[in-house]
Amino acid sequence: MTLAILGGKPVRDTYLSYGQQWIDSDDIQSVIDTLTSPFITQGPRIEEFEKKVAQYSGAKYAVAFANGTAALHGACFAAGIGNGDEVITTPITFAASSNCVLYCGGRPVFADIDEETYNIDPSKIEDVITEKTKAIIPVDFTGQPVEMEAIRRIADKHDLVIIEDAAHSIGATFKGRRVGTLADMTMFSFHPVKHITTAEGGMIVTDSEEYAEKLRLFRSHGITNQNLTKDEGPWYYEMAELGYNYRMTDLQAALGVAQLKKLDHFIANRRQIVDRYNQAFASLPGVRTPFQHVQTQSSWHLYMLSLNLEQLNVGRREIFEALRAENIGVHVHYIPVYLHPYYQKLGYEKGLCPAAEKWYESALTLPLYPKMSDEDIKSVIKGVEKVIGHYLI
Ligand SMILES: *Cc1c(COP(=O)(O)O)cnc(C)c1O
Repeated sequence: MTLAILGGKPVRDTYLSYGQQWIDSDDIQSVIDTLTSPFITQGPRIEEFEKKVAQYSGAKYAVAFANGTAALHGACFAAGIGNGDEVITTPITFAASSNCVLYCGGRPVFADIDEETYNIDPSKIEDVITEKTKAIIPVDFTGQPVEMEAIRRIADKHDLVIIEDAAHSIGATFKGRRVGTLADMTMFSFHPVKHITTAEGGMIVTDSEEYAEKLRLFRSHGITNQNLTKDEGPWYYEMAELGYNYRMTDLQAALGVAQLKKLDHFIANRRQIVDRYNQAFASLPGVRTPFQHVQTQSSWHLYMLSLNLEQLNVGRREIFEALRAENIGVHVHYIPVYLHPYYQKLGYEKGLCPAAEKWYESALTLPLYPKMSDEDIKSVIKGVEKVIGHYLI
């Protein structure tokens, strides 16, 4: 047992992680049924899962991938991103949102965030558009959809493809429209910390048949038996593009189908926890609760406090360490992508996105997942009150 930095017993005895999957007997049975069926990969469960996610999100087509990062890579390929092309994204995201551009030989260009929503600021997008810009990858950070109407106007004006990174936002809405119907292609991730899981897994949803075809080609070596250039016999197939093996297995899809049934319940559960956090922290000096745009309904992948550092006599690091010592699994999302050594070597410099860098100094992620018990929620609130209260000026 760790000793609380602030003395006395920690607010809880066991460590509470910031996110965790929910697997029940229905999930287990779904996987077992598939495991003992003739197909454990490239079988019927993939198509079933794709159809159901497409239906849920309101898109026409869905293409499953081995993980969300592979799905983003596929979307960049389908959008035609190649050598020298520029793609605009936010610095406050997981590195995969911009790495996918590098995979295709393109250059990620970072536009600063809005200081209220922490999402990419549409007015900053316009500032960095050049004749090389081909696409925008906005990220629905923490589950709150980006301002897609403004982004769509910019994309239409400059003929850009919008690939929405919705790893955090399945089930969220913008002006009543569900994420999945807003962008040209939308990516979901099914990593265990996300809303629903397939252990590893991802998907692109789109209304474009052309994109869907390219995505299917890309995820399976670029091999096809359609529109062949020759007829050498019934065995004949062709490799038309340089693709990858980015396929999801049927075992994963079987888990996904079972998980999807619980998605709305999971989201409702997350919203309830968020309401309790907001109530507890609204009047707590030293912290700011997350801003919610009236036109969006977040699906709440993350609950993030912003520390009012001028009201505290220590920095975020001390607050973080004190909460960890209370067994509260706090985290920080995210280190601005371009500050990573790999990006620094590519020539990106500190100071590029001041609002993002400022947000990073004050950001603190609290545990949030449907399986949290009432006691878990209370202990987080107690821990934050104890630590923040201790360090208030
Ligand atoms: C999780 C995540 C990804 C990548 O998803 P994986 O399935 O883990 O590859 C991409 N972008 C964001 C913002 C994420 O949170």
